[in-house]
Amino acid sequence: MADKKRILIVEDEKPISQVLQINLNMAGYDTDTAFDGEEGINKALTGNFDLILLDIMLPKSDGFTVCREVRKKLATPIIMVTAREDETDKILGLDLGADDYVTKPFSVKILLARVKANIRRYSGEMVEIRSADDSSADVITVKELKIDNKRFIVTKAGQEIELSRKEYEVLLHLATHRGEIFSREDLLGTVWGYEGFLGDVRTVDVTMSRLRSKIETNTAEPEYIMTKRTKGYYIPME
Ligand code: CA
Repeated sequence: MADKKRILIVEDEKPISQVLQINLNMAGYDTDTAFDGEEGINKALTGNFDLILLDIMLPKSDGFTVCREVRKKLATPIIMVTAREDETDKILGLDLGADDYVTKPFSVKILLARVKANIRRYSGEMVEIRSADDSSADVITVKELKIDNKRFIVTKAGQEIELSRKEYEVLLHLATHRGEIFSREDLLGTVWGYEGFLGDVRTVDVTMSRLRSKIETNTAEPEYIMTKRTKGYYIPME
């Protein structure tokens, strides 16, 4: 039998923590809880989890700090849970390395669907990493950019560019489908694993603008990732 996936719930409000726990358990996940930021960091860093649900307003260390600290060591998917719109802006604005966010009050159905999508993508990646090890170097070149999909390293004119996982995946997806135009909804489906109503297209916009600021010399006149008005994003053929 397949091992149950384990989820860490970092949430100081006990009623919310309980609702999450009950629903995740019913959906077939094992759960553990942390009630403040420090406990959250300590438990997360054990590496025993397949996903972390992370509240922002927490005693001791806030969710932003927890996210940053965990990301220094682990690639475990993190979904941030926010209570306010301005926190959403902060999650999107900071390069925390969170994989997604949900806003309170959230629909349990949507939350479960996002949990599932993030865990599935993360496990899928692990398989890709393993199979990539067996093959010869797999480098995709776009002008001065080199995407080394064996080592997950991107360089521009020889200089390494640090990308978050989603930035990397968006770039890789566009680079392996040159000339094809992808809408924000397409990218939510392929890169985030979300379908239909599930994701927020703002997540794509923010990831894209961050990615562009890292790879383009002048984001007002992009050379790599182009926008086709009302249609979407693409990397042109030579
Ligand atoms: Ca809280």
